[in-house]
Amino acid sequence: MTIPEHLQHLIRSDEPLAPLVWLGIGGPAHFFAEPVDFEQIVQVVTWAAENDLPTRVLGSGSNLLVREAGFDGLVITLGAAATSALSINGDRLTAGAGGKLSHAVVKAVGGGLGGLEHLVGIPGTVGAAVVGNVSSGGRDIGSAVERVRVLQNDGTIKQFDQDEVGFTYRKTALDGLTIVEVDFKLEAADPVALTKRLQKLWIARNAARPADIERIAMPFIDPDSMPARELIQSVGLAGIREGNVALDSARPHYLVAHAGATSDECLKLIDRVREQVLLQTGIDLQLNLQIW
Ligand SMILES: Cc1cc2nc3c(=O)[nH]c(=O)nc-3n(C[C@H](O)[C@H](O)[C@H](O)COP(=O)(O)OP(=O)(O)OC[C@H]3O[C@@H](n4cnc5c(N)ncnc54)[C@H](O)[C@@H]3O)c2cc1C
Repeated sequence: MTIPEHLQHLIRSDEPLAPLVWLGIGGPAHFFAEPVDFEQIVQVVTWAAENDLPTRVLGSGSNLLVREAGFDGLVITLGAAATSALSINGDRLTAGAGGKLSHAVVKAVGGGLGGLEHLVGIPGTVGAAVVGNVSSGGRDIGSAVERVRVLQNDGTIKQFDQDEVGFTYRKTALDGLTIVEVDFKLEAADPVALTKRLQKLWIARNAARPADIERIAMPFIDPDSMPARELIQSVGLAGIREGNVALDSARPHYLVAHAGATSDECLKLIDRVREQVLLQTGIDLQLNLQIW
């Protein structure tokens, strides 16, 4: 398929995705666009829909494993200023989906609004955080969401109230849709106390992450019975390796990609862990990592 002339300034072909994802692995996107405003998003998304091309949004790439074959469709990013803006109005924070979650957290705290600070240090964008209902310390992002705006294939916006989003543990019913904006309803609080809390949480989170390692992912969702970290440790899988991919030995809920790592090695390691955990404990570990 060729890119029509009026979209040639917006859409590129065969864009490498590996440099855009944390694991640094994977092939190209057949088509790739970085729209700078809402009008451009609509143009590229409706073009893809008219041509039956699957569309995916790429956030910060911290929860993605891209296969070497790449993605045979359109990948868009929403990191431009117009699609990542943050604004406060009373006790509400409105965030463009391409904005960094960490910026939203800091903006809320600076504006004396509590309710997001427990999410400090979770990598990624607001859109990805909402679609995957990120959580930390037993509290998810969904509890602070008031409304989500999603772009439909015909270029119109559909609004979902919190109770229509289907927030469950690390999941929503919005999977596969393009979130463009989110309203959070927060609670007024003392900015100084909030900042102190934020700093404490930030230090704790940093201490819990493998130091000096860039190419990492957190592949599994914590099962109900115990954190994935303890579970993997308890069955003796900390530090196991598959080619150039390993589980961190101290924090085995993190997967680490070393030089030369491939998506097949990641998938083999993930399968091995799931198989062993199931065999030894009867627990079926579920994936958090999205695979393209
Ligand atoms: C070191 C580390 C620590 C982590 N800690 C936590 C944690 O404590 N809690 C937790 O819940 N997760 C955690 N994660 C997982 C990860 O941070 C989250 O899943 C995060 O939301 C991913 O954001 P991203 O922008 O990088 O998404 P990406 O990896 O780019 O994309 C992930 C998925 O979201 C979709 N997506 C992205 N933007 C949109 C949008 N606008 N509309 C619709 N779909 C969209 C993508 O298509 C893809 O399917 C951690 C990951 C790492 C590497």
